[in-house]
Amino acid sequence: MSEILTSVFDRLVDARPPAEPTVLFETATVLGGSIAGLLAARVLADHARRVVIVERDELPSTPQPRPGTPQDQQVHTLLPAGQRWIERWLPGFTQVAVDRGAVLSGPGTTSTAFDGHRQVRTDTDFWLLVAGRPLLEACLREQVLARPEVSVVRGRVTGLRFRDDAVSAVTYLDDDRERVLATDFTVDATGRASRLPAWLREHAFDQPRLERLTAPINYATALFRRDEPTSELEIACALGLFSPGHGAGGVSVAAANAIEDDQWIVMLMGYDDSRPGRTLDEFREITAQLPGVFGRAAGGPITREILTYHQEESRLRDFTGLRRFPARLVSVGDAVASFNPIYGQGMSSAALHGSCLSAHLTGGPDLSAPATGFFELQRMVVDAAWAISAGGDAERLDAVHGTEVPAEVSRQRQILRQIIGATLSDPVVAEAFNNVSYMLRHPATLADPAIVERAVAATTGAAG
Ligand SMILES: Cc1cc2nc3c(=O)[nH]c(=O)nc-3n(C[C@H](O)[C@H](O)[C@H](O)COP(=O)(O)OP(=O)(O)OC[C@H]3O[C@@H](n4cnc5c(N)ncnc54)[C@H](O)[C@@H]3O)c2cc1C
Repeated sequence: MSEILTSVFDRLVDARPPAEPTVLFETATVLGGSIAGLLAARVLADHARRVVIVERDELPSTPQPRPGTPQDQQVHTLLPAGQRWIERWLPGFTQVAVDRGAVLSGPGTTSTAFDGHRQVRTDTDFWLLVAGRPLLEACLREQVLARPEVSVVRGRVTGLRFRDDAVSAVTYLDDDRERVLATDFTVDATGRASRLPAWLREHAFDQPRLERLTAPINYATALFRRDEPTSELEIACALGLFSPGHGAGGVSVAAANAIEDDQWIVMLMGYDDSRPGRTLDEFREITAQLPGVFGRAAGGPITREILTYHQEESRLRDFTGLRRFPARLVSVGDAVASFNPIYGQGMSSAALHGSCLSAHLTGGPDLSAPATGFFELQRMVVDAAWAISAGGDAERLDAVHGTEVPAEVSRQRQILRQIIGATLSDPVVAEAFNNVSYMLRHPATLADPAIVERAVAATTGAAG
């Protein structure tokens, strides 16, 4: 079973645009023009004569924050799975971003540390793309909108219309005037607060089951001037994870990325009531005590005030196994699953949802039936991301509340702890772990007996 899982996941990670795409639709509509919507539009451009993105925000022509994406002022790292996917589907994207100041960070300049102990360096190449989130989105938008099939209309989507149990039109408000857009296929990419479940309920369709994991997180992020030129950086992308009591000032996670305009973006995160770094003095007091690059990064002149972000829970909407669901409709990105963002999986998940969409559309789908195959494939991607982020949060919560967990769960957690411990000294285990964290491989690959054996040997001092 896990071999099937891992090979299907590998195929989604490696997906490429179809060599001979078939046009299935006159008009395909994407609701929401953020990362997931843009990536879905790119996939649909191979299958529709016209792809219309309906977005409620005015989309700026230069990188700027916007109201529809309140997270865009926080640190964003594009993991290798997402970077590779976008580069294959929009060739040249990475260079365009780098030319505008984004930084590509490889094994030599990327640091992940657990309680101040840095993960051992691996031999394989991987690239994380770090930049302000508005810059990443602007580069993506420019390239997707350069496709002749794709256009944007500004409007707030208010609902769906149906014919023969299939979505046939999208309604939206344009300056308070209701408009109706006829569509042959619709992708919901309206993010975490998607109203799709309510629109389905209004028409007596089944709604996806909502799974929630309460894990309150508090981000504080600021920008600082960076003196070292990008070419001389020893570290360009740093992530520090701290177990309780190890991070100064109640910090559980710290991140520092070298980004455009010679800046550092630095983030401190605390769980529950811990809200570290809300004033500049406190921010600097904490970063000065953290090991690694954080103190240095926050030491330069501040170039943007500290902005905070609170998220109460991870959410997952399960679209599989629904009995009455409309045809010609799918949902992607944060509208389906939005996790604890410290793992940086959101944009790469959206890319893999794009792979699922492409697999669905190239596989000769029955367009009169719900896109069941799509949702099953997507669930595999969602579960893989959820295993990493929600798995860690569940363990922390169980520890806080003293919850008794089943023996098997406890055993899996013990193995994962050993794997993480072994990443400090064993490059083979570190590579296997990074491949999963970077969404290049399915988490089931960590159950490989050879990896588990090495992890046990590395963490118990047994000969390896
Ligand atoms: C604090 C934080 C840090 C993060 N860090 C990372 C990171 O390091 N790496 C990473 O990969 N991911 C990260 N993420 C996740 C990432 O931001 C999202 O996964 C990514 O933006 C994909 O989201 P999306 O496109 O599905 O939704 P969103 O980005 O939320 O966009 C939804 C879009 O839909 C539009 N919209 C909503 N409703 C309507 C409507 N009714 N009509 C028309 N338009 C509508 C909105 O205006 C918006 O443009 C982070 C998230 C947070 C909260």
